[in-house]
Amino acid sequence: MNRSRSRTEECPGTGSDGGRATPLLRRIRAAASPRNRSLKEVGAAIVAIGVTLTLLALGSLARTPGMHTVQAAPCPSTVPRAPVTRRLGFSGRRALEQVARVVDFGPRTVGSTGHQKAVAYILATLRGLGLHPVTINFATRDPEGHAEPMTDITVSIRGTVPSPPLLPPTAPRTASDANARADTIVLATHYDTKRFPFRFVGANDGGSGTGALLEFARVFTRRPARHRVVLVFFDGEEAFDHWKGRDHTYGSRYLARLWQAEHGLPRVRALILLDMIGYSTPCFCQDVNSSPWLVHRIWHEAKRLGATCFEDRDIGIEDDHTPFVKLGVQAADVINFEFGPHGTNRYWHTPQDTLDKLSAKSMRIVGRVVEATVRDL
Ligand SMILES: [Zn+2]
Repeated sequence: MNRSRSRTEECPGTGSDGGRATPLLRRIRAAASPRNRSLKEVGAAIVAIGVTLTLLALGSLARTPGMHTVQAAPCPSTVPRAPVTRRLGFSGRRALEQVARVVDFGPRTVGSTGHQKAVAYILATLRGLGLHPVTINFATRDPEGHAEPMTDITVSIRGTVPSPPLLPPTAPRTASDANARADTIVLATHYDTKRFPFRFVGANDGGSGTGALLEFARVFTRRPARHRVVLVFFDGEEAFDHWKGRDHTYGSRYLARLWQAEHGLPRVRALILLDMIGYSTPCFCQDVNSSPWLVHRIWHEAKRLGATCFEDRDIGIEDDHTPFVKLGVQAADVINFEFGPHGTNRYWHTPQDTLDKLSAKSMRIVGRVVEATVRDL
């Protein structure tokens, strides 16, 4: 009987060097280490989505210029597997089908028709599961001062452990409303795509996380986790221009401040962000800007499931989890920032970020690792 085999999530991979960091990646790790406070404090250690500062600093050492210089240690294809006793329901096929639906809307830049269709589809899908999504509309300004309307979407799925209801966003509250018990797990992603002069549909960047969250909605509605799960679809993760200053993470910065004002942040037990998770040969590195214990929990589940593409390598990422981390929320970013062949990030922010680069298997691996983590938190 191949029961244990069928319950492992062996990664698609190309090599077996055990995930050791290359010299370049060790430099990244050293620069990005949270222990290196002076570097961290000046922000030089953060690898932004859109800007790899470390790579800029190390550009002269790289073999090729630009973003493509991250030399990944290939994912080892096999490791000893631990038995998995937990029943997991996340379907990579269903998740990828959701990505396809979202990608079909075309570019989802803020203010576009594709963006509106994506919002409508997310809401309809969640309502179809009997859930009650909430849209959080807000206006911001792009770097040139133009008003940009944005929409975050949140939805709450009850857990098996009784917990007080979340107050509606408009309800007046006081500090006493903040329940000291951290009874909510947030799964988050962004659904918008970056504006480019070419057609950019963001199958992986924006699409994959959205598809995963819609599948999580089905999974946790059908079989609730112990704790309440709140799904968050951020708008405006992408910069209008370049990833610098405040031109990025509009939706997450807004929601983090909103929840802070509502005294809701202490309710968040953990926030797991999913971004660029669908590439057919993924490698996930440990983000040093995430909460270490939460990263450890996720990687622990990955090891239990035999998901060797969760590697013991470090990277520093600034993303939609950052505004929450800054406010003390325990958060982790699960992101594959090697979205391209041979450990490059060559497809990132290019017309090549299309559905054919993704696989149901990759979606399933990440989905099940995260589902297992959520069920265990
Ligand atoms: Zn992007």
